[in-house]
Amino acid sequence: MAAVSIHPSVDHGIKPGAKDFAGGTLLCKCTSNPVEVTIKSQSAHNHACGCTKCWKPKGALFSVVAVVPRDKLSVTKNADKLSVVDATATIQRHACKGCGVHMYGRIENTRHPFYGLDFVHTELSPQSGWSAPEFAAFVSSIIEAGADPAQMGAVRARLKALGLEPYDCLSPPLMDFIATHLAKAAGVLKG
Ligand SMILES: [Zn+2]
Ligand SMILES: [Zn+2]
Repeated sequence: MAAVSIHPSVDHGIKPGAKDFAGGTLLCKCTSNPVEVTIKSQSAHNHACGCTKCWKPKGALFSVVAVVPRDKLSVTKNADKLSVVDATATIQRHACKGCGVHMYGRIENTRHPFYGLDFVHTELSPQSGWSAPEFAAFVSSIIEAGADPAQMGAVRARLKALGLEPYDCLSPPLMDFIATHLAKAAGVLKG
């Protein structure tokens, strides 16, 4: 039986990130005048995501998405081709009107725990060395995108075999980070 396909960038094993990698460019899939995003930083918290909002390549069960500091990201070519997919979403995904690829997702709510971080798909980069995916988030949500519920055991087993611990929300450290931020905002935690 063929292994379950998760995403083309992890299906053949996970490539570790490069030490001292300091960023690069992302290009959309347009064959002419592609949108170019320049990132002057290594990525962090890279993970497979099963939610229905992240952009993923055709046929993939999961997206692979990481974060970078928002002040390290700029659109350097063909910015006029970008538009926000859903202005009411927490993460505003700036997609290419030509090819549909999401070039970056940005949180504009300054009180959001992840404010200051932009969400990016480093598979769009011609450079290698970006931080490797570390876990799988929102695994159960792939059912909402049409995955067969009976396949979930095989999907989770494949994620574990790849070293991507499957979670149905974010990973425990990120859930703790969010809860800590909220507790401080509410005055429950000091500091
Ligand atoms: Zn494009
Ligand atoms: Zn997602």
